[in-house]
Amino acid sequence: VPVLRNIGLLARCSPGGGQGEIHALPRAALAWEEGTIRWVGPDAELPDGWAGAERWDAGGRMVVPGLVDCHTHLAFGGWRNDEFEQRVLGKSYLEIAAAGGGIASTVERTRGLPEAELQARARSFLDGMAQLGTTTVEAKSGYGLDLRTELALLRLYRRLGREGPLRIVSTFLGAHVVPIEYRRRREEYLSLVVEEMIPRLVRDRLADACDAYVDEGAFTVEEARRILLAGRARGLPPRLHADQHTSCGGAELAAELSALSADHLEHASERGIAQMASAGVVAVNLPIATLYLGSRPMEARRMMAAGVPVAVASDFNPGSAPSYHLPLAMTLACALSRMTPAEALKGATLFAAKALGLADRIGSLDPGKAADFAVIEADDPAHWLVHFRGNACLLTVAGGKPIWRRGAA
Ligand SMILES: [Zn+2]
Repeated sequence: VPVLRNIGLLARCSPGGGQGEIHALPRAALAWEEGTIRWVGPDAELPDGWAGAERWDAGGRMVVPGLVDCHTHLAFGGWRNDEFEQRVLGKSYLEIAAAGGGIASTVERTRGLPEAELQARARSFLDGMAQLGTTTVEAKSGYGLDLRTELALLRLYRRLGREGPLRIVSTFLGAHVVPIEYRRRREEYLSLVVEEMIPRLVRDRLADACDAYVDEGAFTVEEARRILLAGRARGLPPRLHADQHTSCGGAELAAELSALSADHLEHASERGIAQMASAGVVAVNLPIATLYLGSRPMEARRMMAAGVPVAVASDFNPGSAPSYHLPLAMTLACALSRMTPAEALKGATLFAAKALGLADRIGSLDPGKAADFAVIEADDPAHWLVHFRGNACLLTVAGGKPIWRRGAA
């Protein structure tokens, strides 16, 4: 039974107290047993019962809950380096997509990649995430867009989750875009998703949620409603890519369906935000995409003022957000979306867990929750996020076991 002593600042990120309240405890200790946190409090008040426990030393550093990346497109073939250059020279995301680039080009490369290679790539991304302090990753399908490849991606996520050490939450995103071969037969593709893909993947228990991309160039509100209702009827909670490029009613649909989350929301309407607040939908801020697309940032302060919890995630994908660096996303959430470092931290932990429906098990350092945490070389969240480095994480622990440590830390 180990105890982590000499924690300079323990950012518990417990429920309650609003987005900026991280329940920070100076000079703290943390004890756990069989992967579950048993005691948290001031180091000087550690109960005698833990005196004989194996002692780990945090060296006066900050400890945060294991980061939760609640929005990634983890497994894909190729990269879209060429589009990075095209965007730098002035082409827009929608122009590139209309010319056959964007998601469609990744679909082609993903379908063509042997499963072993897809798995090796995804595995190496997860290793990189663990080094940054991430312990839970949501992974979306959506680069297959045919029955065979969508099932293969979801099976891959289940396999990676079983193998560990990171916790993987898998989301079906058959409604990413209409694949090229169905461009003139949209209705047939919708039927394929609703009548074949969803029943099959539910039968095989391959997904934890159902996502749809509502925007120009993707799906209309009516189409997304049909798909998300079909998923919900079979037990898959809805999530949405909403209002990224245009204000198209995505936030309103998320509220109507009581979705777990609505993600992007750069162009969400005032009415949509108010409805999300009443329906308890989490807004997911994806500022790495904002950075790479040079687009308008999500107005996080408006969301929080309306009472919407704001999660922060990487949106890791080969085109618009080619980085799984969640601490970078948190720094950008501050710099672009005007979240405070404490707000960004709660957004990448407890509120990200809430976006996955897992807030009762992960996302904060409270007794009864998973012993997932990271030791960060910083005095407090502001110091961590303002001084951007390759990696400030010294030690990552998932389920009570070290999964990565820097050098001799
Ligand atoms: Zn996305």
